[in-house]
Amino acid sequence: MPAISFEFFPPKTDEQRAQLDRAAQVLKAYAPDYVSVTFGAGGSTLSYTGDTVARLHGEHGLSVAPHLSCMGGTRAEIAALLEGYRAAGYRRIVALRGDLPSGMASPGDFRYAAELVAFIREHSGEHFRIEVAAYPETHPQAEDALRDLAHFKAKVDAGADGAITQYFFNPDAYFRFIDDVRRLGVAVPIVPGIMPITNFSQLKRFSDACGAEIPRWIAKRMQAHGDDAESIRALGAEVVAQLCRRLLEGGAPGLHFYTLNRARATQAVLAQLH
Ligand SMILES: Cc1cc2nc3c(=O)[nH]c(=O)nc-3n(C[C@H](O)[C@H](O)[C@H](O)COP(=O)(O)OP(=O)(O)OC[C@H]3O[C@@H](n4cnc5c(N)ncnc54)[C@H](O)[C@@H]3O)c2cc1C
Repeated sequence: MPAISFEFFPPKTDEQRAQLDRAAQVLKAYAPDYVSVTFGAGGSTLSYTGDTVARLHGEHGLSVAPHLSCMGGTRAEIAALLEGYRAAGYRRIVALRGDLPSGMASPGDFRYAAELVAFIREHSGEHFRIEVAAYPETHPQAEDALRDLAHFKAKVDAGADGAITQYFFNPDAYFRFIDDVRRLGVAVPIVPGIMPITNFSQLKRFSDACGAEIPRWIAKRMQAHGDDAESIRALGAEVVAQLCRRLLEGGAPGLHFYTLNRARATQAVLAQLH
């Protein structure tokens, strides 16, 4: 089995907390390298990431990687978060720019993820392994694809140890991205982010927002199943497992699953990878 990791988001209600506990309980059987927890933009959700990693680490015994974004505030606020994570014994951070919530004027002291990575290195030395985001299909706000590659390289030059990609369904986009950044001299491992398919309309919404392309043949087959959730799940697991196999055969160093705090769809994919 390749190195795997699971991504969760911070639950906000008791029901969501119970759901995350159930998912963590099931997925830890796959012995993940680590689990990561997203960082919501906006001050009010700041503490949820910390609470959630503490729970996954303390109650479930998992290695954790809190996400941290430039929306985390000032240098002093981000330094305080880093100190808390270090004191808790965590060794990994996923460093991002984040997205500015509408109506929010100032994102904090850092504009781009590369600046945040440099700050983490300056503040915490080599304590944390730092992962950054990569976009095989190009970040939706990039000036152009080549400059996006150069900005990705800047994050690695600033001190990132590895990257996790935005999800995609076309393996050639990943392989091309790897070739391009290797030519630029980027040597760090780049782990594909995998989105299991459960609900097609939700996937379409996410994909429109983050610039991930759903190939026509997948969309057409999903649409043909209409409201038949069971058939959609089965097709989704088969398509995503095939993607994972191709990625691993082509040299991907591991798989990072966007679980959306549910175990079932991720398990269905993993079950086909043995
Ligand atoms: C694995 C993964 C995990 C994520 N987790 C979270 C999370 O927990 N919380 C959250 O809010 N979001 C999360 N996101 C989403 C992410 O924050 C957004 O996609 C965001 O828009 C970009 O973040 P980034 O770190 O890639 O930014 P950056 O690397 O800073 O790039 C952002 C954009 O700016 C451009 N750019 C970079 N540097 C420069 C420069 N010097 N001059 C001009 N343009 C530049 C890039 O080309 C790109 O278009 C995640 C994404 C991924 C792939």
